[in-house]
Amino acid sequence: MNAYYVDFHTHLHAYPDHSQVAEEIGEHKIITVAASMDIESYKATKRIAQGSPWVIPTFGIHPEKSDTVTSLASLDTYLDESPIIGEIGLDECWCRQVPLPVQEKVFEYILDHCHRKRKYCVIHTKDAEARVLEMLKSFPDAKPIIHWYDGPADIFRKMLNKGYYTTFGCQVFYSDYIKELLKMTPMEQVLSETDNPDSEKWLGGTDDTPLLIHRVVRDIAAVKGISESACCKTIYGNSRKILARVRSSRLLKNKAFKFT
Ligand SMILES: [Zn+2]
Repeated sequence: MNAYYVDFHTHLHAYPDHSQVAEEIGEHKIITVAASMDIESYKATKRIAQGSPWVIPTFGIHPEKSDTVTSLASLDTYLDESPIIGEIGLDECWCRQVPLPVQEKVFEYILDHCHRKRKYCVIHTKDAEARVLEMLKSFPDAKPIIHWYDGPADIFRKMLNKGYYTTFGCQVFYSDYIKELLKMTPMEQVLSETDNPDSEKWLGGTDDTPLLIHRVVRDIAAVKGISESACCKTIYGNSRKILARVRSSRLLKNKAFKFT
């Protein structure tokens, strides 16, 4: 099996030059699940995906943007067409300017959609980990993918025990705590992400290109004590399982990869 690198969480809309980043992704054949923050960034992400056979656009309302939602029903068209949902969630650290009840109302509405449609959803949990886990209990058929978790280990253990997938990214390189969380995580639940283009620079690095995913997979492999190619293969296999479920989506037509 030919394994591709998979970046399961990145913000292509946030790059200044959309065609350049799409070109780099195509050149390196990186399967890219591209998150959005709101309707506007989703539309931009969809345009990028239309021009790239490697990009899967996903719709979500980031907790930071939840106070921009004036009508929950206005999200339905976008939720319905998006094969995977993301980025959604709660944040009590960086997004405190948006009251938690406002964040929760939007998160709950979108989780209900994911529950009814049995969809995968990429979830942000910063400093609201226990509350996220609590809210997920009401939506057992939603399929959470926990993104860049760095909260309490006992809550993380509960999420792993529920079988949730979790993404690991550029912080694996910098943080012993993240390395510990990764050690706890069975390889069958590990996905890779860059959270480009801002995260690596925020952590003190310089690489904000799609190729950063190669280093991330190398870092994960080092923590797990396996080869980079074995790691890439397992993560690709995990990603295939998720993407195979959404392959009939209109937004996945004409992609370079086939999951049959
Ligand atoms: Zn993100």
